[in-house]
Amino acid sequence: MIEMDISGPYCATIDGQRVETPQSLPVIDPATGEAFAQAPDCDAGHLDEAVAAARRAFRHWKAISSEERDALLHAAAARIREESEPLAHLLTREQGKPLDEARHEIETAARWFAAYADHAMPVETRREPDGRLAEIRHVPIGVVAAIAPWNFPVQLMAWKLAPALKAGNTVVAKPSPHTPLTTLKIGELLSGILPAGVLNVISGRDHLGPLMSGHPGIDKISFTGSTATGKAVMRSAAGNLKRVTLELGGNDPAIVLADADAEAVAERLFWGAFRNAGQVCIAAKRIYVHDAIYDRFAARMVELARAHPPVRGDAPGARIGPVQNRVQFDRVKAMIEEARSSGLRFLSEPGEMAGPGNFIAPTIIDNPPDDAPVVREEPFGPLLPLLRFSDLDDAIRRANDSEFGLASSVWSADIERATAVGRQLEAGTVWLNTIHCMTPTLPFAGHKQSGIGIENSTEGLLEYTNVQVLVRQP
Ligand code: NAD
Repeated sequence: MIEMDISGPYCATIDGQRVETPQSLPVIDPATGEAFAQAPDCDAGHLDEAVAAARRAFRHWKAISSEERDALLHAAAARIREESEPLAHLLTREQGKPLDEARHEIETAARWFAAYADHAMPVETRREPDGRLAEIRHVPIGVVAAIAPWNFPVQLMAWKLAPALKAGNTVVAKPSPHTPLTTLKIGELLSGILPAGVLNVISGRDHLGPLMSGHPGIDKISFTGSTATGKAVMRSAAGNLKRVTLELGGNDPAIVLADADAEAVAERLFWGAFRNAGQVCIAAKRIYVHDAIYDRFAARMVELARAHPPVRGDAPGARIGPVQNRVQFDRVKAMIEEARSSGLRFLSEPGEMAGPGNFIAPTIIDNPPDDAPVVREEPFGPLLPLLRFSDLDDAIRRANDSEFGLASSVWSADIERATAVGRQLEAGTVWLNTIHCMTPTLPFAGHKQSGIGIENSTEGLLEYTNVQVLVRQP
């Protein structure tokens, strides 16, 4: 079989057709700063066509048997797997991430399609005390807008597409303007499998997202991105009371207890913090380390930072790539400069940050004050504060002192002790002696300003449904 062609032209997929647009959007290689491709710049007219196509397709898609839908989702997973190598190369080129991580991301997307194909849709009957029988059904909502960010463009989109389609909805998907290409290619690939209009993929500049969240033909928005944008989405979704699932920012704490293996945990948390160049919503972003092991922990982290300078994602053995885009690069650079001008001590340095590629080396800051911006805000890049503690209750208080509540982790030789600490953390996910364990069957949900609603698992699937209760008189 001949591999798919990942070179351009890149097209939108609307109503099963490849659509080129008069205007285009340059896509920049973050390792060089150069535009290497053009993506469609869809306008309000394209969006209207995509929504109308999704609306037409909904009538058929919701009515076919779940077995038929499941078979098509399995076929979609298989098709993505067949093309995983060219898709991974394209993802590395546009996103910057190491090729092995891009391969993992494509496989994760396929895995989610397959897992939801196998996932049973819950149906429940209840006998009421007066003898009436109620059937509780979960029916599809209609047209779903799926909006993804640029850090895991394919994986986070698949987390929406698989359950939305499984539940019988049709979709208009919009990747980030920074990383549209791999998602557009997947849209084209799946148009050979799914009926026309079931999955539409459009890309465009910053105007397109707001048009989607305000569009009266869209019934639900599933959005992953920053907390600020999530609030804007929620405001404009109010127009026709769209359902919303919002997966937003995080500032995840990790707490390392005095009895933990300092060097081993430092290595796990180094990758927990700097994987994907720190551009992970659930990256460890504040690491509280007990005073008794702080110096050993920090020394190992610094050793790893020096051993893993950022390189092009397709370089042999790459583990850390560039920051994905210039806006984010400038934001992280500004935070580093702010930390320096405030007199904070750097344990490892960011290196030369002149460009043209967006390279910043893993940068570690030694015990900044709790109110420093590097502690309060989400850097979303390779910048990490280590914080000392001696009183565990105080560390828990400091960890919880955040407007975010996405995830967190606790590390100890005593798992019961770690669990007891974990129960006190204000976060949707708490990992105990591990980090970044995400599966299609575990619910993922942010507390506080990290989001509304749930992704993954049965709970995440039900977010793409309305409840319908059929009550029968015996
Ligand atoms: P962003 O909010 O800038 O953009 C996300 C997406 O929304 C993009 O596709 C963008 O084009 C679109 N968009 C922008 N304005 C819009 C609007 N008004 N209405 C509708 N859509 C709009 O986020 P980003 O910079 O791409 O991603 C980084 C952020 O995402 C970080 O804060 C990170 O923590 C968060 N994130 C969260 C999760 C999670 O699951 N909780 C996962 C990954 C990233």
